[in-house]
Amino acid sequence: MEQMRICVTCRVSRNQSELIRLTVDHLSGRVVLNQSSSTSWHGRSAYLCRSQSCLDKACKGTRLKVALSGRMQKNKNIRPAISWPLEPQLIKDMAQLCTEPLKRCENNLRKEARE
Ligand SMILES: [Zn+2]
Repeated sequence: MEQMRICVTCRVSRNQSELIRLTVDHLSGRVVLNQSSSTSWHGRSAYLCRSQSCLDKACKGTRLKVALSGRMQKNKNIRPAISWPLEPQLIKDMAQLCTEPLKRCENNLRKEARE
């Protein structure tokens, strides 16, 4: 049975294989695409739909960043530093994994911006 994961942007739960997986390398703080099973990255992960609109919102908003950096721990004052904003190459790689085209809806975009 496949594990269900939730997209950080739209909160829809899907099979892990249907989502784009991002992981923060715990040593460098670099955010990497964690799609292949041959390379295993260790660190906090976040998931996104293969949708250009979820990707765009994730890059512009703070949800993905928060999901990747995690909550501040009680006994630690420092969060692991993550490299943010995401590298342009990484965003390009993610866009290539998107199977759903960008749906432009100005009303929704404006609503998102106010959140
Ligand atoms: Zn989504």
